[in-house]
Amino acid sequence: MYETLAPSFFFTEIGARTEAFRTAHPGQRLLLLGIGDVTRPLAPAVIQAMHRAVDEQSRAETFHGYLLEGGTPFFREAVASYYARRNIKLRPDEIFVSSGAADDLGSIGNLFTSENRVLVIEPAYPAYVDTNQMVGRPIFSLPGTQENGFLPLPESDSDADIVYLCSPNNPTGAAYTKPQLKRWVDWANERQAVIIFDAAYEAYIQDEGIPHSIYEIEGANNCAIEISSLSKTAGFTGTRTGYTVVPADLIREGVSLRDMWERDRTTRTNGVSYILQCGAAAALSPEGILQNQENIRIYKENGRILSKTLKECGLWFTGGRNAPYLWLRCPEGMDGWMLFDLLLSRAGIVGTPGEGFGKCGAGYFRLSCFGSREDTEEAAEKLLELFRKRI
Ligand code: PLP
Repeated sequence: MYETLAPSFFFTEIGARTEAFRTAHPGQRLLLLGIGDVTRPLAPAVIQAMHRAVDEQSRAETFHGYLLEGGTPFFREAVASYYARRNIKLRPDEIFVSSGAADDLGSIGNLFTSENRVLVIEPAYPAYVDTNQMVGRPIFSLPGTQENGFLPLPESDSDADIVYLCSPNNPTGAAYTKPQLKRWVDWANERQAVIIFDAAYEAYIQDEGIPHSIYEIEGANNCAIEISSLSKTAGFTGTRTGYTVVPADLIREGVSLRDMWERDRTTRTNGVSYILQCGAAAALSPEGILQNQENIRIYKENGRILSKTLKECGLWFTGGRNAPYLWLRCPEGMDGWMLFDLLLSRAGIVGTPGEGFGKCGAGYFRLSCFGSREDTEEAAEKLLELFRKRI
């Protein structure tokens, strides 16, 4: 089925255009607002915990060999306590450690058949489509649009066995409210569908009424798997640890998906290193959470600066508040690639054309809040200059 996949030229093309500009304009500083990668270092609590763990591995008395595939008890307890802050009760054995959300998005399909129908909300994080296309599952899409605020709800004729929801969303930065997520949970329970809820950006939520977890919604324990990650929560993009929750109450055709996932994990992985699980547990401790919130606050301030600028430019956008991305409508009928070239050539700004996230992304553009403050402020000034001049 790999032959049906679109070639993954998108980020290569962004890199090639950026490189060509660099070569033609040596010495011009580029303002990098395209990246979906963190730039701040790991929190001190995480570093200390990992140093301690390395020392433990150096002594026979404290050395650890193979660990439980699903996660060490202390890691699972740390995740359970993280959820308990929002009154969500999870059993440690409903929590599974991972090497990041991308790994589990790639593997979660092991729980389903190749006939199961998949519903994806577009624009979408590309893995939702590609991983299913690789095994030939039928894929349907529900369009996110300016009219529905890029937060579509199930329609009377929406039918599927699996639906991917990502809230707060990459790329649009839009986030579902509680009543909106309740509509999805009810829809899934009525049809015995399974929601795969990607919570990679939950730590960026600041507004009341936006759920951090699908399990804040009544009934979600019967229909939802949550895939999450410390990548954006705690700067783990290059360190690699995440977790997946499969509730014991999630039963389909008499089979427990939790039991299936445990069977799958104990077969296909030997888990995540002791050192990383120590670092990850520290990231989820009260001290780690506070330290990470400081990094997140810095990214969110970038979001505030860019939101203010886009408003002043009179451009329509979502995001920037509960997520580290802003998703704007390209002005003057441009498509994303035209805006990409224009921002690069006239302002040295590198963003991401919406076309990389499916058909519904055409004509939109993503700006990231993960850039440096300096780049973000300079980009904001240049955006104002450009759009005030009415390109
Ligand atoms: N899900 C979404 C929506 C993402 O944006 C990303 C990374 O950017 C991932 C999953 C993958 O995250 P990880 O680094 O945990 O593999």
